[in-house]
Amino acid sequence: MDGLFTTLSTLDQYVCLVCGYNMVGFFPTRCPFCGAERINFITSEECSEKFEVKEIPVSTNVTRLNSSPSLGIEHAAYRIEAGDCVFMVDCPSSFDTGLKNIDIITFTHHHFLGASNLYRDHFDAYVRLHKKDSENPLCLGFTFDNLFQGSFAESDLEAFHINGHTPGFTAYIFQDHLFICDYVFYKIKPVSLNPYGSAVSTRQGAKDLIGILEEKDLSIVCGYNYVCDYGEWIVKFKDLVQ
Ligand SMILES: [Zn+2]
Ligand SMILES: [Zn+2]
Repeated sequence: MDGLFTTLSTLDQYVCLVCGYNMVGFFPTRCPFCGAERINFITSEECSEKFEVKEIPVSTNVTRLNSSPSLGIEHAAYRIEAGDCVFMVDCPSSFDTGLKNIDIITFTHHHFLGASNLYRDHFDAYVRLHKKDSENPLCLGFTFDNLFQGSFAESDLEAFHINGHTPGFTAYIFQDHLFICDYVFYKIKPVSLNPYGSAVSTRQGAKDLIGILEEKDLSIVCGYNYVCDYGEWIVKFKDLVQ
Protein backbone atom coordinates (compact mmCIF):
# COMPACT_ATOMS: atom_id res chain seq x y z
CA MET A 1 0.00 0.00 0.00
CA ASP A 2 3.04 2.27 0.09
CA GLY A 3 2.47 5.39 -1.98
CA LEU A 4 -1.21 4.74 -2.46
CA PHE A 5 -2.36 5.17 1.09
CA THR A 6 -1.71 7.69 3.80
CA THR A 7 -2.15 5.93 7.10
CA LEU A 8 -4.04 7.98 9.64
CA SER A 9 -5.48 7.32 13.06
CA THR A 10 -7.76 4.29 13.17
CA LEU A 11 -10.45 6.78 14.23
CA ASP A 12 -10.43 8.45 10.80
CA GLN A 13 -13.05 7.20 8.41
CA TYR A 14 -13.98 8.54 4.99
CA VAL A 15 -16.94 7.88 2.73
CA CYS A 16 -16.77 7.98 -1.07
CA LEU A 17 -19.70 9.99 -2.41
CA VAL A 18 -19.53 8.20 -5.76
CA CYS A 19 -20.01 4.66 -4.50
CA GLY A 20 -20.61 4.88 -0.74
CA TYR A 21 -17.55 2.83 0.19
CA ASN A 22 -16.25 3.53 3.72
CA MET A 23 -12.48 3.80 4.13
CA VAL A 24 -11.72 2.86 7.69
CA GLY A 25 -8.46 4.24 9.09
CA PHE A 26 -6.89 5.29 5.80
CA PHE A 27 -7.14 8.11 3.26
CA PRO A 28 -6.23 6.81 -0.21
CA THR A 29 -5.67 8.96 -3.29
CA ARG A 30 -8.41 7.04 -5.08
CA CYS A 31 -11.39 5.05 -3.84
CA PRO A 32 -10.38 1.38 -3.61
CA PHE A 33 -13.85 0.37 -4.77
CA CYS A 34 -14.74 2.70 -7.65
CA GLY A 35 -11.51 4.59 -8.36
CA ALA A 36 -12.98 8.06 -7.67
CA GLU A 37 -10.51 10.78 -6.69
CA ARG A 38 -10.05 11.99 -3.13
CA ILE A 39 -12.03 15.18 -3.77
CA ASN A 40 -15.12 12.97 -3.63
CA PHE A 41 -14.44 11.83 -0.06
CA ILE A 42 -16.06 13.22 3.08
CA THR A 43 -15.46 12.17 6.66
CA SER A 44 -17.95 9.78 8.22
CA GLU A 45 -18.93 12.58 10.63
CA GLU A 46 -19.78 14.85 7.69
CA CYS A 47 -21.62 11.95 6.13
CA SER A 48 -23.76 11.52 9.24
CA GLU A 49 -24.61 15.23 9.13
CA LYS A 50 -25.61 15.23 5.46
CA PHE A 51 -27.35 11.87 5.22
CA GLU A 52 -29.86 9.93 7.25
CA VAL A 53 -31.00 6.35 6.85
CA LYS A 54 -34.50 6.19 5.48
CA GLU A 55 -36.65 3.24 6.52
CA ILE A 56 -39.09 1.94 3.90
CA PRO A 57 -41.43 -0.85 5.08
CA VAL A 58 -41.43 -3.93 2.83
CA SER A 59 -43.67 -6.10 5.01
CA THR A 60 -44.54 -6.55 8.68
CA ASN A 61 -41.06 -7.75 9.66
CA VAL A 62 -38.86 -6.45 6.87
CA THR A 63 -37.72 -2.87 6.26
CA ARG A 64 -35.58 -1.53 3.46
CA LEU A 65 -32.80 0.83 4.53
CA ASN A 66 -31.18 3.41 2.28
CA SER A 67 -29.23 6.59 2.85
CA SER A 68 -31.22 9.73 2.13
CA PRO A 69 -30.57 11.65 0.00
CA SER A 70 -29.22 8.79 -2.07
CA LEU A 71 -25.50 8.19 -1.56
CA GLY A 72 -23.78 7.24 -4.82
CA ILE A 73 -24.42 3.65 -5.83
CA GLU A 74 -25.01 2.46 -2.26
CA HIS A 75 -26.93 -0.82 -2.28
CA ALA A 76 -30.06 -1.27 -0.17
CA ALA A 77 -29.80 -2.99 3.21
CA TYR A 78 -32.73 -4.72 4.92
CA ARG A 79 -33.69 -4.99 8.59
CA ILE A 80 -35.38 -8.27 9.48
CA GLU A 81 -37.21 -8.63 12.76
CA ALA A 82 -37.08 -12.36 13.33
CA GLY A 83 -38.68 -12.85 16.69
CA ASP A 84 -35.88 -12.88 19.23
CA CYS A 85 -33.24 -11.48 16.87
CA VAL A 86 -33.02 -8.41 14.65
CA PHE A 87 -30.85 -8.88 11.58
CA MET A 88 -29.56 -6.41 9.05
CA VAL A 89 -28.70 -7.97 5.69
CA ASP A 90 -25.96 -5.70 4.27
CA CYS A 91 -25.43 -2.20 5.67
CA PRO A 92 -26.05 1.46 4.76
CA SER A 93 -23.04 3.60 3.85
CA SER A 94 -24.06 6.41 6.20
CA PHE A 95 -24.05 6.05 9.97
CA ASP A 96 -27.35 7.14 11.55
CA THR A 97 -27.73 6.70 15.30
CA GLY A 98 -31.51 7.05 14.87
CA LEU A 99 -31.71 3.54 13.44
CA LYS A 100 -33.52 0.99 15.60
CA ASN A 101 -31.46 -1.67 17.35
CA ILE A 102 -29.70 -4.34 15.28
CA ASP A 103 -28.35 -7.57 16.82
CA ILE A 104 -26.61 -9.15 13.83
CA ILE A 105 -25.26 -7.61 10.61
CA THR A 106 -24.85 -10.33 8.01
CA PHE A 107 -23.59 -9.73 4.49
CA THR A 108 -24.48 -11.09 1.07
CA HIS A 109 -20.90 -10.20 0.01
CA HIS A 110 -18.12 -7.74 0.68
CA HIS A 111 -18.89 -5.02 -1.88
CA PHE A 112 -21.00 -2.75 0.28
CA LEU A 113 -19.85 -3.13 3.86
CA GLY A 114 -21.20 0.39 4.50
CA ALA A 115 -20.59 1.84 7.95
CA SER A 116 -20.91 -1.61 9.53
CA ASN A 117 -17.93 -1.03 11.83
CA LEU A 118 -19.70 2.03 13.32
CA TYR A 119 -23.04 0.21 13.69
CA ARG A 120 -21.17 -2.73 15.25
CA ASP A 121 -19.77 -0.43 17.94
CA HIS A 122 -23.02 1.51 18.39
CA PHE A 123 -25.31 -1.51 18.78
CA ASP A 124 -22.70 -3.94 20.10
CA ALA A 125 -23.81 -5.93 17.05
CA TYR A 126 -22.32 -9.17 15.79
CA VAL A 127 -21.01 -8.93 12.20
CA ARG A 128 -20.86 -11.82 9.76
CA LEU A 129 -19.31 -12.30 6.32
CA HIS A 130 -18.39 -15.39 4.35
CA LYS A 131 -14.73 -16.28 4.94
CA LYS A 132 -13.86 -16.22 1.24
CA ASP A 133 -15.05 -12.62 0.84
CA SER A 134 -13.29 -11.51 4.03
CA GLU A 135 -9.94 -12.03 2.30
CA ASN A 136 -10.65 -9.22 -0.19
CA PRO A 137 -8.67 -5.94 0.29
CA LEU A 138 -11.98 -4.01 0.42
CA CYS A 139 -12.45 -5.49 3.92
CA LEU A 140 -9.46 -3.51 5.22
CA GLY A 141 -10.33 -1.85 8.54
CA PHE A 142 -13.61 -3.71 9.08
CA THR A 143 -14.17 -6.10 11.97
CA PHE A 144 -16.06 -9.38 11.56
CA ASP A 145 -17.12 -11.45 14.53
CA ASN A 146 -17.89 -14.52 12.47
CA LEU A 147 -16.46 -15.68 9.15
CA PHE A 148 -18.93 -18.33 8.13
CA GLN A 149 -18.33 -21.04 5.56
CA GLY A 150 -21.15 -22.74 3.73
CA SER A 151 -24.84 -22.28 4.46
CA PHE A 152 -26.60 -21.94 7.80
CA ALA A 153 -29.89 -21.01 9.45
CA GLU A 154 -30.66 -19.01 12.57
CA SER A 155 -33.89 -17.52 13.98
CA ASP A 156 -35.85 -18.22 10.78
CA LEU A 157 -33.18 -16.60 8.61
CA GLU A 158 -31.63 -19.06 6.16
CA ALA A 159 -28.31 -18.32 4.48
CA PHE A 160 -27.29 -20.05 1.25
CA HIS A 161 -23.72 -19.76 0.02
CA ILE A 162 -23.99 -19.77 -3.78
CA ASN A 163 -20.59 -18.36 -4.87
CA GLY A 164 -20.51 -16.58 -8.24
CA HIS A 165 -20.52 -12.77 -8.30
CA THR A 166 -18.05 -13.02 -5.39
CA PRO A 167 -16.52 -16.25 -4.00
CA GLY A 168 -18.44 -15.89 -0.74
CA PHE A 169 -21.74 -14.62 -2.14
CA THR A 170 -24.60 -15.66 0.12
CA ALA A 171 -28.34 -15.31 -0.54
CA TYR A 172 -30.80 -15.16 2.36
CA ILE A 173 -34.38 -16.29 2.82
CA PHE A 174 -36.67 -15.11 5.60
CA GLN A 175 -40.28 -16.25 5.56
CA ASP A 176 -41.44 -15.48 1.99
CA HIS A 177 -38.64 -13.00 1.21
CA LEU A 178 -35.49 -13.60 -0.84
CA PHE A 179 -32.51 -11.28 -0.30
CA ILE A 180 -30.28 -11.35 -3.36
CA CYS A 181 -28.53 -7.93 -3.42
CA ASP A 182 -26.81 -7.39 -6.79
CA TYR A 183 -26.48 -10.99 -8.01
CA VAL A 184 -28.78 -10.05 -10.87
CA PHE A 185 -29.31 -6.66 -12.53
CA TYR A 186 -33.08 -6.66 -12.59
CA LYS A 187 -34.03 -3.02 -13.14
CA ILE A 188 -31.63 -2.59 -16.03
CA LYS A 189 -32.82 -3.92 -19.38
CA PRO A 190 -32.04 -6.50 -20.43
CA VAL A 191 -32.08 -8.35 -17.10
CA SER A 192 -28.66 -9.95 -16.61
CA LEU A 193 -26.49 -11.75 -14.11
CA ASN A 194 -23.97 -9.45 -12.45
CA PRO A 195 -21.03 -9.33 -14.91
CA TYR A 196 -18.44 -8.49 -12.22
CA GLY A 197 -16.94 -11.80 -11.18
CA SER A 198 -16.55 -15.21 -12.78
CA ALA A 199 -19.26 -15.67 -15.42
CA VAL A 200 -19.07 -19.45 -15.11
CA SER A 201 -19.37 -19.42 -11.31
CA THR A 202 -22.13 -16.80 -11.35
CA ARG A 203 -24.16 -18.88 -13.75
CA GLN A 204 -23.60 -22.03 -11.69
CA GLY A 205 -24.57 -20.17 -8.50
CA ALA A 206 -27.76 -19.02 -10.18
CA LYS A 207 -28.58 -22.61 -11.13
CA ASP A 208 -27.89 -23.79 -7.58
CA LEU A 209 -30.11 -21.03 -6.20
CA ILE A 210 -32.95 -21.99 -8.53
CA GLY A 211 -32.73 -25.52 -7.11
CA ILE A 212 -32.99 -24.14 -3.57
CA LEU A 213 -35.90 -21.87 -4.51
CA GLU A 214 -37.91 -24.77 -5.95
CA GLU A 215 -38.48 -25.94 -2.37
CA LYS A 216 -39.61 -22.55 -1.09
CA ASP A 217 -42.85 -20.62 -1.17
CA LEU A 218 -41.73 -17.04 -1.75
CA SER A 219 -43.52 -13.83 -2.71
CA ILE A 220 -41.05 -10.92 -2.42
CA VAL A 221 -37.53 -10.34 -3.76
CA CYS A 222 -35.38 -7.75 -2.00
CA GLY A 223 -32.57 -6.61 -4.29
CA TYR A 224 -29.91 -3.91 -4.24
CA ASN A 225 -32.08 -1.23 -5.87
CA TYR A 226 -35.50 -2.85 -6.04
CA VAL A 227 -38.18 -4.77 -4.19
CA CYS A 228 -40.39 -6.81 -6.49
CA ASP A 229 -42.84 -9.65 -6.90
CA TYR A 230 -41.14 -13.04 -6.70
CA GLY A 231 -43.35 -14.63 -9.38
CA GLU A 232 -42.25 -12.13 -12.02
CA TRP A 233 -38.64 -12.17 -10.87
CA ILE A 234 -38.13 -15.94 -10.91
CA VAL A 235 -39.35 -16.23 -14.52
CA LYS A 236 -36.72 -13.74 -15.67
CA PHE A 237 -34.05 -15.25 -13.42
CA LYS A 238 -34.60 -18.73 -14.82
CA ASP A 239 -34.39 -17.34 -18.36
CA LEU A 240 -30.82 -16.21 -17.62
CA VAL A 241 -29.52 -19.74 -17.14
CA GLN A 242 -31.48 -21.62 -19.80
ZN1 LIG B 1 -15.95 4.98 -4.48
ZN1 LIG C 1 -21.60 -6.76 -5.71
